[in-house]
Amino acid sequence: MKGYLKRNSAAYFHNAVKNAKSIAILTHTNPDGDALGSVTALKWYLAALGINSRIVVPNPYPKNLKFLDRDGDVIIHSWRREAAERTVKNADLIIALDFNQLKRIDDLEPLVRESAAKKILVDHHPLPEKEAFDFVISNTEVSSTCELLFWLIREIEEGSIERVPEIAAQSLYVGMMTDTNNFSNSVDAGTFLMSYELLQRGVDKETLQLKVFAGFSEERMRLMGHSLLNKMKLLPEYGAGYIVLTKDELEEFRFAEGDTEGFVNLPLNIYGITISALFTEKDEHIRVSLRSSDNFSVNRFSRNYFNGGGHERAAGGRLFIPVSEVGEYFEESLRKELEAD
Ligand code: 5GP
Ligand code: MN
Repeated sequence: MKGYLKRNSAAYFHNAVKNAKSIAILTHTNPDGDALGSVTALKWYLAALGINSRIVVPNPYPKNLKFLDRDGDVIIHSWRREAAERTVKNADLIIALDFNQLKRIDDLEPLVRESAAKKILVDHHPLPEKEAFDFVISNTEVSSTCELLFWLIREIEEGSIERVPEIAAQSLYVGMMTDTNNFSNSVDAGTFLMSYELLQRGVDKETLQLKVFAGFSEERMRLMGHSLLNKMKLLPEYGAGYIVLTKDELEEFRFAEGDTEGFVNLPLNIYGITISALFTEKDEHIRVSLRSSDNFSVNRFSRNYFNGGGHERAAGGRLFIPVSEVGEYFEESLRKELEAD
């Protein structure tokens, strides 16, 4: 939409990609639909302009998003360290999508920081690390990085998306669809206009809907059942609910990357619950996911207590305490945060 982009953004971006010799496109750790959607959409769009690029992601994406990486050319750093690092080192243009701080790409951070390449950020999170980039295209009002990228491309294309390949249109649609939790958060008139144009461009929304929201394994559904039945704890006095999943439980349900995506939203379906949290035990830390459905800022909550950040209503972070202490830590932190308000 007009207003999401500054006047010179499209021209700067277009020039940068035209003049680059070697482009690396990066997104954040635990890539979700918006992350994988935006990097693949950009790659396909650039390819349509005759511009080559490579995608590097820190770790694997969920299986149900595999169709976005149709040709399997996303380089996963934790699997192919050398290829990923070579790509970043050789790049003279690095485009970062869907993350605001370089620490969000874990071990790739120092490589990007030290790189002499030109660096551009396209993102929708608060507090972008502006100093780390040569050019920042950031707006926190827009539904998703995919939507921001859509408006950027459309501006480069002077209002028509005819040159955007169907496969890129599909990636853009999926990123928006997943970041808005299927059109339920952060959607405005522009999001529908984008959807309209992408559908006109040939996007098959029913197939995508099925692939993304009905492409899960039996194990994931059973883990969800276990989380709700046995693990969800409610704190009605705070309007909060949370779930802690230990490594043993994840193993018992044969956890695969991405299986717990979306679980954090579940407590919010309960009347009176407006704050929710999901904690999953990893090898070296506890992964934290936070959501709110009112004015409680989980971005601030995460920065204060969970070594993280994110959006006002969707944030994440990490804890470095035993999993057995997580529940108490969360309850105590929430009490302090609400008292400070
Ligand atoms: P999720 O709960 O889906 O993993 O993350 C929700 C949002 O929180 C992401 O879009 C991202 O903005 C933010 N986020 C997740 N993990 C972290 C983290 O470790 N650090 C920061 N700064 N933000 C995070
Ligand atoms: Mn996003």
